[in-house]
Amino acid sequence: MSGADDRPAVAARILVVEDNPLNLELVTDMLSDEGYLVLQAEDETTALRLAREEGPDLILMDIQLPGADGLEITRKLRADPATGGIPIVALTAHAMRGEEEKARDAGCVGFLTKPLRMQDLLQAVAQWTRTGGD
Ligand code: MN
Repeated sequence: MSGADDRPAVAARILVVEDNPLNLELVTDMLSDEGYLVLQAEDETTALRLAREEGPDLILMDIQLPGADGLEITRKLRADPATGGIPIVALTAHAMRGEEEKARDAGCVGFLTKPLRMQDLLQAVAQWTRTGGD
């Protein structure tokens, strides 16, 4: 019970699903620097496996992926009792109308537009892991 600390005693674990290696590296660095533990997935198979096996505290889901897109993976995660309780925040390069609504319909709790602003990313992560931040 150390409410004054801005660092959790046990670091939250974040699964980042992102097919672009540079973006994956960027997000990983931003989160690691804040003390989060990052799990990485570049495709659907890895994303589903890590979500089930590791039970991360939060998933950051790129929507534009080759093959199954992030919305489809999100629906599968939400439908699986083993992973259905994990909050998922969508990452999308497209700020198109209706994009956020589609992500929320698929089961995402939040929505961030790329290029990611570090402040927005950390705020969303803190909110959905209930660690650190405000
Ligand atoms: Mn992508």
